[in-house]
Amino acid sequence: MQQKDISGLSRSELKTLITKDYIDFCLKYTLNGQQLSFVLDNKSHVTLLDDGILAINLNQHSTHTNAEQSKSIVLSCAVHGNETAPIEICCLLIHKLLSEELETAHRVLFIFGNIPAMAISERFVDENLNRLFSRDISSESLEGRRAKVLMKQVDDFFEKAPSTKLHYDLHTAIRPSKNEKFAVYPYLHGRDYSKEQLAFLSACEVNTILLSQSPTGTFSYFSSYQHQAHAFTVELGKVKPFGQNDMGKFKAVFQKLVELLSEAEVSLPEYEKCPLTIYTVNQVINKHKSDFTLNFADDMVNFSEFKAGDILATESGTEYRAQFDNEAIVFPNANVAIGQRAILTVIPYEL
Ligand SMILES: [Zn+2]
Repeated sequence: MQQKDISGLSRSELKTLITKDYIDFCLKYTLNGQQLSFVLDNKSHVTLLDDGILAINLNQHSTHTNAEQSKSIVLSCAVHGNETAPIEICCLLIHKLLSEELETAHRVLFIFGNIPAMAISERFVDENLNRLFSRDISSESLEGRRAKVLMKQVDDFFEKAPSTKLHYDLHTAIRPSKNEKFAVYPYLHGRDYSKEQLAFLSACEVNTILLSQSPTGTFSYFSSYQHQAHAFTVELGKVKPFGQNDMGKFKAVFQKLVELLSEAEVSLPEYEKCPLTIYTVNQVINKHKSDFTLNFADDMVNFSEFKAGDILATESGTEYRAQFDNEAIVFPNANVAIGQRAILTVIPYEL
């Protein structure tokens, strides 16, 4: 990926480029380790912290009178480079904020996770970034190095956070889903589930929730575990190339994100009235042998259900079966590396 250095640009040229199209800016330019900030007419502070990492009101709590009411919000996308809809959503939010069509009183950190993968329209370059968010990560791959940068930025951002910490890591799934939009609630280690957060997701038309039951290397688990943020991996639909997303499908989530950024509090439906379907993880099936095979059609949709005893997958010496009626599969992928998760199964759960 050939990128130009920003040194030749004046501050106003820079502001114009970022406001016009932050995706295009990220693909064409690199900060080369520099940090830059500028102030908008509405007094919002914009800081370019690193490539694909843009903060608004980074140090706001030191001067803002309502510090305790201000939220610290991380919106991340492109952790998988080909998941374009969330990237377009974040780009549009950045455009509205920088053109002052929208104003935020909160601290906001926008993260485009994997720009080299975005540039080649692939999920990743060397390995899956969303398995690498862990303090003891030693991988020196492109994604391993990027994970360390992203963790450091999120650490710095949340350590200065005066109050509510939020992180929505926005994705689109590889395969279609029976429940097109869904969110993964990271393992909370005994902390309480937030019904307010689930009502927010429901208002975003994300009505299927998957409760993870173990530590993982995902970005949302990192923010949840390390910073006690309300953090979620949010899947917004199926992967499409840039420009081919039907943005009408993302209207509700876009409107709620606008409200989250621009209002002190978001108006939420009553939790009891939300049409939520909640699942908890039952089995995590890892691939151990190269002949690992799914026992269902390659294009079977996420949340397809099986009966107790149905074979889900096989590999030399082992059969993996559903243990309950209505056990559903999520994220099946036989092409993962040996040792990685090939299928997750979930069963219905009452909160
Ligand atoms: Zn993804």
